[in-house]
Amino acid sequence: MTAAMRDRLRGCLFGLAVGDALGAAVEFKAPGTFAPVTGFRAGGPHRLDPGEWTDDTSLAVALGDSIVSVGWDLNDQAKRYLDWYENGRYSVTGKCFDIGNQTRAALAQFKRTGDAYSSGSSAERSSGNGSIMRLAPVPVALAGLYPDQVKLLADFAEQSSVPTHPSAPCRSACRYFGVVLAALAAGEPREEVLSPTWPVLDDLGPLHPTVDAVARGSFRAKQPPAIRGGGYVVESLEAALWAFAGAQDFREAVLRAVNLGDDADTTGAVCGQLAGACWGESGIPADWRTGLARTDLLEAALGGTLRSGAMAAGALPSDPSARADRRQEGPSPTPVPAVSPPAGSYWVVTGRFLAGCFPGSLDPVEQERKYGAFADLGITTFINLTVV
Ligand SMILES: [Mg+2]
Repeated sequence: MTAAMRDRLRGCLFGLAVGDALGAAVEFKAPGTFAPVTGFRAGGPHRLDPGEWTDDTSLAVALGDSIVSVGWDLNDQAKRYLDWYENGRYSVTGKCFDIGNQTRAALAQFKRTGDAYSSGSSAERSSGNGSIMRLAPVPVALAGLYPDQVKLLADFAEQSSVPTHPSAPCRSACRYFGVVLAALAAGEPREEVLSPTWPVLDDLGPLHPTVDAVARGSFRAKQPPAIRGGGYVVESLEAALWAFAGAQDFREAVLRAVNLGDDADTTGAVCGQLAGACWGESGIPADWRTGLARTDLLEAALGGTLRSGAMAAGALPSDPSARADRRQEGPSPTPVPAVSPPAGSYWVVTGRFLAGCFPGSLDPVEQERKYGAFADLGITTFINLTVV
């Protein structure tokens, strides 16, 4: 992975949190009824401090933590969402202070059944923006699937919607949005990715007609008030794309999004993922990057190879063998995080069995760092063949 791609993948998650935090102060306000947002400010319905973020980022952090901890496991993802809802884990304040209706109902059902595959409502009217707002960790973890395995990448993105938002529009929106984010992070030009004739759209399989219309450029033909930062997934996606497509840089994109008002934090979070994947963490204004609350939680959700400082030992190898056993048609039921292994190592069995340099060091700090990088990949047992 190149340093530029790493910057864009980090930007995708940090952009989500920045957009969420910018919009939190004006959530639920009608457009034009508030002083335009220009930076972090205190207040909003949850009375947050400047730079603090809401459920959008908490759920993204929970999803990322699940993927880097156990691989791909929908029940584990739902368990962590429930842990946030009931215990405030992954929250910037230590409490769950806001939750969408669909997410609340689905988590209550999940608590009763323990089955994330059947916990959400698949009725088409249940099509809120709660699964696109948290999506970043999926393209972050599975960026290696782009461009060769777009359909598999889309399948994972779609499946991430299921525990809380299994309706057809929500699933289609995640399918499209996940691949767009991975393409931007891979360095594809924005104009190409957003083009109605982007060839990759044909690899996604049929999208729900409402999402397909957005993917084919509906956002280019409209302006507010026809563009609305509402809670409906199609409206939210369209608004975020409108804000992103018409902006010169990260700052302009997310400010266009949150100043639509209404579900401003979520429009900001969706747009922030796009803008961050396009312009990178380095494209986020420095005062927003440093003013963001609880970045330790975001770092933890990124996993070892993308964590701040993880590149210090040198560029990570581009390792096709890491994905050699992933050639399959649908999401795997077993944990298979497609993250690159640390330099000097390779997957023997993806996500489970790694071979390479033993992570020891005479320097205890360095040894801790090395072990941590492996632990982040789920490696918990080490066999030192150089000593045996
Ligand atoms: Mg929110």
